[in-house]
Amino acid sequence: MEGLIGVPGTVGGALRMNAGAYGIQIGSYVREVKVYRAAERKIEILRGEQISFEYRHTSFAPDDMMLAVKLELPSKPYPEILQGIRICNEKRRSSQPLGQKSAGLHFQESARRIRRAHDRRTWTERFFRMAMRGSASATRISS
Ligand SMILES: Cc1cc2nc3c(=O)[nH]c(=O)nc-3n(C[C@H](O)[C@H](O)[C@H](O)COP(=O)(O)OP(=O)(O)OC[C@H]3O[C@@H](n4cnc5c(N)ncnc54)[C@H](O)[C@@H]3O)c2cc1C
Repeated sequence: MEGLIGVPGTVGGALRMNAGAYGIQIGSYVREVKVYRAAERKIEILRGEQISFEYRHTSFAPDDMMLAVKLELPSKPYPEILQGIRICNEKRRSSQPLGQKSAGLHFQESARRIRRAHDRRTWTERFFRMAMRGSASATRISS
């Protein structure tokens, strides 16, 4: 998991977001996760293969709370791990200078969400405008 060095946050957040960098993602190492399933008010243990880990997205329910995780990490000689950490640190420092403020992917992700919300809003607004004019035919709505 050397690639995760320098990714700010908690283990719970990393699991939810399937945090990753430099070709690795935490989901690849998850053996099991203990979650509190708020909707059912129960604690459950999910095996790694029951969870879908995609790019910065997972199949956890929105109200699942990660309580604990078991990771299975490949065995490697210590110097090799240290070298991997150094390389990843170097890459991160050169692309995200520590002396400067950074919001990570915040703006990229926000822009995506805003675009989606805007598409939905535009459609709804058009629909209501047409409904008010008494012509709420969805077939007349062009996107
Ligand atoms: C400078 C910078 C660099 C970054 N670089 C990377 C990168 O290289 N790769 C990358 O993947 N991300 C990166 N990020 C984004 C972020 O650091 C990661 O996504 C991180 O894993 C988020 O963890 P967090 O604990 O801060 O979660 P938060 O941002 O606080 O939360 C993220 C989500 O997880 C949920 N959550 C948190 N804890 C739990 C829990 N215990 N149970 C259930 N849900 C929970 C929250 O409700 C929220 O929906 C970067 C961010 C910054 C600011």
